[in-house]
Amino acid sequence: MDSTKKYVFAFDEGDGKNKKLLGGKGANLCEMTQIGLNVPPGFVISTEACLEYLDASDHALPAGLIDEVQAHMRVLEEKTGKGFGDPENPLLVSVRSGSAMSMPGMMDTILNLGLNAETLQGVIAATGDARFGYDAYRRFIQLFGKVALGVPDEAFDTEFEAIKAAAHAKQDVDLSAADLKEVSERFLVVVEQATGHPFPSDPYRQLEIAIKAVFGSWSGRRAVDYRKQFHITPDMANGTAVNVVTMVFGNRGDDSATGVGFTRNPATGENRLYGEYLINAQGEDVVAGIRTPKPIDRLKVEMPDLAEQLDRLRDKLEGHYREVQDFEFTIERGQLYCLQTRNGKMNTVAMVRTSVEMEREGLISKEQALLRIAPELLEQMLFPRLDPSVKVEPVAQGLPASPGAASGIAVFDADRAEQLGTQQGHKVILVREETKPEDIHGFFASEGILTSRGGKTSHAAVVARGMGKPCVAGAEGIGVDVNRREARVGLTSFKEGDVITIDGTSGKVYLGAIPMVEPDFTPELNILLDWADEMARLKVMANADTPVDARRARRYGAVGIGLARTERMFNDVERLPIVIEMIVAETPEQRQEALDKLLPLQRNDFRDLFEVMSPNPVTIRLLDPPIHEFLPDEHVLERELAELRVLAQSARGVSVLAGAMGLLHASESLRHEIETARRMVDPAVVEEAIAKKEAMLKKVRALYETNPMLGHRGVRLGMTFPEIYQMQVRAILEAAAECAKAGIEVHPQIKVPQVCTAQELRKVKAFVDSIHTEVAEKFGKPVPYKFGTMIEVVRACMRADSLAEEAEFFSFGTNDLTQATFSFSREDAENKFLPLYNQSGILQDNPFEVLDVKGVGKLMQLAVEWGRAVKPGLHVGICGEHGGHPSSIAFCHQIGLDYVSCSGPRVPVARLAAAHAALKSG
Ligand code: PEP
Ligand code: MG
Repeated sequence: MDSTKKYVFAFDEGDGKNKKLLGGKGANLCEMTQIGLNVPPGFVISTEACLEYLDASDHALPAGLIDEVQAHMRVLEEKTGKGFGDPENPLLVSVRSGSAMSMPGMMDTILNLGLNAETLQGVIAATGDARFGYDAYRRFIQLFGKVALGVPDEAFDTEFEAIKAAAHAKQDVDLSAADLKEVSERFLVVVEQATGHPFPSDPYRQLEIAIKAVFGSWSGRRAVDYRKQFHITPDMANGTAVNVVTMVFGNRGDDSATGVGFTRNPATGENRLYGEYLINAQGEDVVAGIRTPKPIDRLKVEMPDLAEQLDRLRDKLEGHYREVQDFEFTIERGQLYCLQTRNGKMNTVAMVRTSVEMEREGLISKEQALLRIAPELLEQMLFPRLDPSVKVEPVAQGLPASPGAASGIAVFDADRAEQLGTQQGHKVILVREETKPEDIHGFFASEGILTSRGGKTSHAAVVARGMGKPCVAGAEGIGVDVNRREARVGLTSFKEGDVITIDGTSGKVYLGAIPMVEPDFTPELNILLDWADEMARLKVMANADTPVDARRARRYGAVGIGLARTERMFNDVERLPIVIEMIVAETPEQRQEALDKLLPLQRNDFRDLFEVMSPNPVTIRLLDPPIHEFLPDEHVLERELAELRVLAQSARGVSVLAGAMGLLHASESLRHEIETARRMVDPAVVEEAIAKKEAMLKKVRALYETNPMLGHRGVRLGMTFPEIYQMQVRAILEAAAECAKAGIEVHPQIKVPQVCTAQELRKVKAFVDSIHTEVAEKFGKPVPYKFGTMIEVVRACMRADSLAEEAEFFSFGTNDLTQATFSFSREDAENKFLPLYNQSGILQDNPFEVLDVKGVGKLMQLAVEWGRAVKPGLHVGICGEHGGHPSSIAFCHQIGLDYVSCSGPRVPVARLAAAHAALKSG
């Protein structure tokens, strides 16, 4: 180890841009100090020191580190005029973690370090406030005990509640100095009993233990889980820094306060200081939701001077960071300190609004406005909201802490949420009195979060907002009983498993599932996406099969349909019998008869799509799946046949009986019954049914394929049953001609699936041309159309040059192309081995979700290159699922595609991702 290495940086010397070395918080404290904000003096111990400590086999701090720390403590002593461990005038510090990436609540903070029996007396003497001293002391013992020594919170809580009850105190502030003295004494005993050692009293010893604990928390479960969930890799954040900051106190009386602020409202984006504060309290009281804080507007009344200072602080922060800031402040005896600032985590609605408004205010450029929003977040804006036409009374009202609505079964702890939500696939709502960082896995598993305590900046609210999950916080009318897994609400209650609905936009809670409606775009989102379209080169189309899908896609900004899967139109209950008739037909004439019935239906389908999307292009793919998919299941047929055969036997029996009736001396009524039974089960009818079923079973068996995905599907159907494709082509061209006649501008595009050779395309093109001529004659005018191919088999990529001679456009079907490239069944891989492949790092991502640029992408790149070498203007796009995935879209941009096509709800995401791709590629 290099003993001359510098591990420690004072706030006025550290490089505020070097978050990797100093962590986000540390770098900011340096930056804030250096831009003249009133930050209490302190220093940062680098992440490098953390990594060296974690690597060291002897669990020792890097050599020379403690010497450096001591030197910096001496500087703090000089700056504050206090002494670390000095009983007369003690210096107290906080020890905070902070890595390069903000990980809210993931790491632990220790306050009031430096307190012991002697320095405590110094604090009391200096402040003349015994209550304040004992309060600080008991907080320190608990936090240090928990964080640095691993003593469970409950051990402290039990003691604390007992004293509170004995003192008849409702709130912590009701406790007297004597009560708090007793609390701290009992806490010292708790620590000694739990650890087997007395509480460390030497301040430097405390500091060393605390530094090690913060370093150690980097590899603790909470932090590791968080990094895993948010894909935080070592090159993004490695190790945590330690910030040692002079303590300032918000709990020194009624001229002191502590609070958290957002420079703009993180739930709506409104350009107004937002936050909460508590008079005579310490920061943790606000975040932990122990006391319900006051809205920041009240400060104007209670401390007008400081409210003005806060406004100035807000302007300074935004002017410098050019980003919404989430900051912590403390007022100690009328003096405002800024303790921390970081980029504010907001929900997407707020992100979008602040982007548009900050651009207008000249704080950021359009490019920055777009780039500060991760495309996938936009899906949050498409959250459902409660149907306003449904009038249901809420059972409780809390704070609207994170917008959006969600229904699910109530669960009362995080483990259960994980069990029922993640593992069993239920939609769950996590209901807690308040949440803590260790509940994080429960957040991931839940649709929404409901707490009965805490404000809009409580842990639950902040984390839910960051995740874009609805949250109602501080619903005080709800009494949560974790042990009985039940919550009381007025005269009623709900138990684990009962369905509830929360509305994080209004703060209301309902019993049962309330119907939801699709959200609308906010005006700001439309503006932002218009900017995105200006910057993007890729066009965004939609995969849509029905007019409803198409209408929505259009509303979301799709400039056409890139893929309409026609098989979905075959699966309709009314049409299926005709489709089956077409499949089981024994002669071309029979088949044609069925196709003639399908033609007008398909023509209507296409006409509807053309009308909705006019004047944008609509790309229709000819039938793709193996036709046996439309037929009944073989085993079902076998069972039905067996039942029919039993019925046939009985029918024959009844028939024989009826025939023999003349010989019997049967009563009139028995004769009547036998006759009725004979009429009901006519053997001829049953035999006919059997014959039909047998024919169907024969057909099903004949069409059976071991590997249908690689079988008789796509253009192979077009080769073996050209009449089907011909009917579809006619329907497309006639629908287009009808629209054109009605004055509706249409741009039909026909594409052929599963093509592997130009021969296939040529054959399809031949009949498309001849049908086009016929339709032109029929309507007196030709309708222009485009003819192209899907590229979804490996050979198509390799033969892209010859396919380009026949096709006017290529459309990459990356779902099949991924399947074909990996030889992974797209139906099975995700449920079988892919999770293991991802967990163990054999594959970084699920290639059906994230385009495999190294393999599948390489094939695409070659196909584009070779195709355009033959046909320079060749139009190329993608319509597999990857077309809506941001990093995959970036790759599509990079290899020169013209468009991406994705499902409707992904369209806004894709529009922003396309702009990001263009902006990032310069
Ligand atoms: C594809 O394979 O990517 C594609 C769009 O077609 P489908 O998913 O319908 O097979
Ligand atoms: Mg496909």
